[in-house]
Amino acid sequence: MRANGGIDRPAAIGGILFDMDGVVVQQRLDFLAIKQEIFGTTHGFILERMGALTPPERARAEAILERHETVAAAQAEPMDGILPFLSWVEARGLRRGLVTRNSRKSVELVLARLGLRFDAIVTREDAPPKPSPEPVWLACRQMGLPPSAVLFVGDFEFDMLSGRRAGVRTVLLRSPAMQFSEHADLSVDCVGELRELLEREDGVVPLHQAE
Ligand SMILES: [Mg+2]
Repeated sequence: MRANGGIDRPAAIGGILFDMDGVVVQQRLDFLAIKQEIFGTTHGFILERMGALTPPERARAEAILERHETVAAAQAEPMDGILPFLSWVEARGLRRGLVTRNSRKSVELVLARLGLRFDAIVTREDAPPKPSPEPVWLACRQMGLPPSAVLFVGDFEFDMLSGRRAGVRTVLLRSPAMQFSEHADLSVDCVGELRELLEREDGVVPLHQAE
């Protein structure tokens, strides 16, 4: 019997999207050094600044960025608790997706290194980057789920903004650099804490529709 006709109850979660850097893996990507090498200055965001370059400048910038990403991916280490959490997500029958501003090549290197697979992978080659909602929508389509049935776990404001705009539920994985976001529906200090919330019976984050 359905308690309230499902009117007030949020949709059950069918899949979880993850940001890569700082959520799935820790990578030594020195963004200041990359910006210095590409632009000669260190302000702003790399992909957004690259959008203003001429085609030859852009090709050079992409090569520099990809070189740094490849080196970092080869040394990437899983974040604390993420491997058991991903196993638990899979065992619960939930889909798993990755939404990153990194290149597909670096993602493939990281996943091969960690022995991981995801049902959806969206990189900067596939869609406009976060904070656009488009990469999140694409990942939802790849998982075969509506945004209302998806959680997005990230550690940066662009993740929260992208997810909020896309209509998924956003989870901030707090870090020393980022303790709060007005665009986060939930905030946790570790993925184990998110697992506890998902396992709670009171519907804080419902995994299954009430019968
Ligand atoms: Mg991140």
